[in-house]
Amino acid sequence: MNNPIVFSDFDGTITEKDVLMSIVEHFAPPFWKEIWKKIFTRELTISEGVRQLFHLIPSSRKEEIVNWVLKNMRIREGFEDFLLFLKKKDIPFVVVSGGLDFYIHPLLEPYKELITAIYSNKAKFDEKYIEVEFIYKCNNVCKEDCGMCKPYIMEKHYKDRRPWIYIGDSITDLTAAGLSDIIFARDYLAKTLRDLKIQYFPFNNFIDIRQKMIKLI
Ligand code: MG
Ligand code: ZN
Repeated sequence: MNNPIVFSDFDGTITEKDVLMSIVEHFAPPFWKEIWKKIFTRELTISEGVRQLFHLIPSSRKEEIVNWVLKNMRIREGFEDFLLFLKKKDIPFVVVSGGLDFYIHPLLEPYKELITAIYSNKAKFDEKYIEVEFIYKCNNVCKEDCGMCKPYIMEKHYKDRRPWIYIGDSITDLTAAGLSDIIFARDYLAKTLRDLKIQYFPFNNFIDIRQKMIKLI
């Protein structure tokens, strides 16, 4: 490996549970299920779905949500040691998330010195209900209407670094993983890659990933 860089998803990858969905389940009125169904049947794109889901939650609950997240959501085992390992090897760690800044930053606060960059969508609280702002759109890099386009970030800012190492867990990671040289996958992403016969390394936590990377380097 000459100039490696690690990209990681956030929800369900760095965290044990999907924080975005946990917030919706806990704080949105039951109508969220109707929107969720439309995302699955593709009546709504993921970005439009996420926008509508958060628009069900009053902005006034921001602090309550952040406190709830910090109390109830856990970071996957071995994360800090993995970041320290990367730092020692001078390998950047970049978070590419379709989640929202207002819960990602508080959860990653203890590790922020070890993280190169965090890209996500932005939540706004100045209207009655939460608004989601999509800052990193696909811009012709891909045609998925990602909301937060992971391939766009990777191509735009990190083109000159290789190999790309990608860590993720879900369908929204598929395009980015497919562009990467080494993939660590779990859950739905792992299943999909298996079906597509794309090679990946399975993981349960960041101890697994670190051990594998020590062998790869
Ligand atoms: Mg995820
Ligand atoms: Zn895209």
